Parts: sequence; structure tokens; C-alpha cells
Amino acid sequence: MQFIDLKKQYASIKDDVMNEISQVLDSGQFILGGKVKELETELCTYTHSKHTVGVADGTKALLIALMALNIGPGDEVIVPAFTFIATASMARLLGATPVFIDVAPESYNMDANKLEAAITKQTKAIIPVSMFGQCADMDAINTIANKYNITVIEDGAQSFGATYKTKRSCNTSTIGCTSFFPSKPLGCYGDGGACFTNDDRLAETMRQIRIHGQDGRYHHARLGVNGRLDTLQAAVLLAKLRIFDKEVQARELIGARYSELLKNTNCITPKVMEANTHVYAQYTILVENREEFVNKLKDKGVPTYIHYPIPLHKQPILQQFYTGQDLSTSERLAKQVVSLPMHPYLDEKTQDEIVAVVKSSL
Ligand SMILES: *Cc1c(COP(=O)(O)O)cnc(C)c1O
Repeated sequence: MQFIDLKKQYASIKDDVMNEISQVLDSGQFILGGKVKELETELCTYTHSKHTVGVADGTKALLIALMALNIGPGDEVIVPAFTFIATASMARLLGATPVFIDVAPESYNMDANKLEAAITKQTKAIIPVSMFGQCADMDAINTIANKYNITVIEDGAQSFGATYKTKRSCNTSTIGCTSFFPSKPLGCYGDGGACFTNDDRLAETMRQIRIHGQDGRYHHARLGVNGRLDTLQAAVLLAKLRIFDKEVQARELIGARYSELLKNTNCITPKVMEANTHVYAQYTILVENREEFVNKLKDKGVPTYIHYPIPLHKQPILQQFYTGQDLSTSERLAKQVVSLPMHPYLDEKTQDEIVAVVKSSL
């Protein structure tokens, strides 16, 4: 049994992927070029964003977004304590100070009620993460941010395809960042990512940063990186985007079916918040005796993953920035989360088998 079955997906789109890739090979244009532009246009349409900047990966998307906001030493960036390391480490890489706030117990996303208390004169950005595939309470977060003139960057690495009210994830704040890592909802066959914005100036700045801060050939107006989306990956993504709506639908159905089948058992299933649709980048439940539970599943051939076992404020490279605030929900989640096999090609029979093993192991 696969945790995420990418081979089934490939079997269904092989011809289209091969056709897209061979167009790139025939063109000889391997850096940026037509396919990256074409993908950026498609992604603008999909997210209703004015601008998409294809970048090397989701981590680089966050780095480029933060660089475009001129974030550096002395600045504070507010992040949820329960997330993947990149949400905070890119701010740190630029010399800024990560400030951790707890996540809400039902959504597992940044708790907007705790945001205002964390804001200081140094706060430059807030990075809510759309954890596991559903957005945070973006209206509440944007309202507070606007009051203090702070920029919000949505880390939508896990939520591409999800909606928040009438908006698409990655277009819910000033900048949205996503990842096309193979196992993400929209994944390529290597590394990839994108930044989204409706702000012309920020879009131009991010475009420059992804190519060494270049504003004319070999003329460098600002510091940048080599952060371009690979052209072959853009071609793969064009093929994948054509089946994406169908896959998002399948994800929603499979996620909802898990929750229905696991109702009234001794685990906590994900709650889809009212403003949201959920793309279940991970289908993550909470259990009490996780180690024992995971081992039982492993013995019966059901793969699981822990996303994530250590909250940010306990990570060796970040713990120095923990100032004693209450992060108890993040700590509890880190102890109790376990993700079950989840992908758009998970058939009912396999899902029933997983659920039977889960029930007998709780
Ligand atoms: C995957 C992920 C990233 C990083 O994306 P990469 O493409 O792997 O660099 C950042 N933030 C979150 C929340 C992620 O899940």
C-alpha cells in the first residue's frame, strides 16, 4: 500500500506529460521561456490572482516573498508554532526573528485570537499556514494585519486548490506562496513552487529576486537568488493542471468518506471550517497512544507519517526565540497527529481496509 500513489496518477496522464516534456526538449528552451509563462498564466486564472511568479520550490517562494518585503535583522515575523520548518526558517535566514503563536484547536491553523497580542512595533509580516489543506481564518488575520499595516503571506504549500469563502488559497492575502513538491496537492516531478500577488510592484520585485535581483540583463538592482521554476517542471504542471479539478473533487470526497467512516471512534478527525473547502494534502487524525497505534498500523501494512512531531519552538535551530507564551495546542498536536494514506486515487476498497485496521488499532 502506498501513502501517496503517484504511479496511478502518472498512468492516467502519461501521454500528456510526455507530450509537454517533449515540447520543451524540442524547443531547447530550458530556463523560463514559454512553458513557464504559460503555466503562470494558467495559475493566475486558477487562483484569480493578477500575478504568478513560478519559483524553484515552496521554500524559495517564502524566501522570495520575504525578500520582496525587505525583511531582515530587527524585524519580527509571526508564524504558527505548529507547521513545517520552512515557514519560520526563511525569515530566520534573512536575520529576522520568528515569533510563535499557537494554533486553534479545531482548525490546527494560526489562532487569530492570539494574533494581536503578539504584534509589536517590529512586526513586519504574518505567515498563516493553510495546514493540511485548509485555510486559516484569513479575514480575521487580514483585518488585524491591516490595522497595524503588516503584510500577510499565506503559506499555501499544502492547500493549493482549496477555497476560503469566495477566494482560492494562495490569493487570500497580499502574497500567497505554494509548493509543487511531488506529494503536494498540485505536485510536479521534482521541486517547484510559486508566489502569487495582486500587487504589481511586489510581483515585479519577486520576478527580479528569482533571477539574481536583475532589472536588466546583467544589471542587478537588488539582492536576489537563483530561484526560477524549472521549465520541465512547468511543462509537467501544465499536464497535471488539466486533471486537477477532478483530483480536488476526489480529494474532498475521500477525505469526507474517511471522516464518515471514522465517526464515533476513539480518534479525532479533521474538522472542515465553515469558510473552507479542504484539499487534504494530508488526512491527519489525532490519537492518544500514537507510538503504539503507528506500530500496529505498520504491522498490518498501512503506512503513516507524522506531520509534524516537533513544534517550531522546540526545534534546535529555533528554540532560542521561544519566550514562554502558551503554545499548548501546538504541543499537543505534535504528540497526537498521525496522517493516513491519502491521494486522489485511493479506491473505496483500500480505504475500507485502512479504516478497519485503524479501528482495530485504536
Ligand atoms: C512543503 C512545505 C513547504 C516547503 O515547500 P518545498 O517545495 O518543499 O520547499 C513550506 N511550508 C509548508 C507548510 C509545507 O508543507
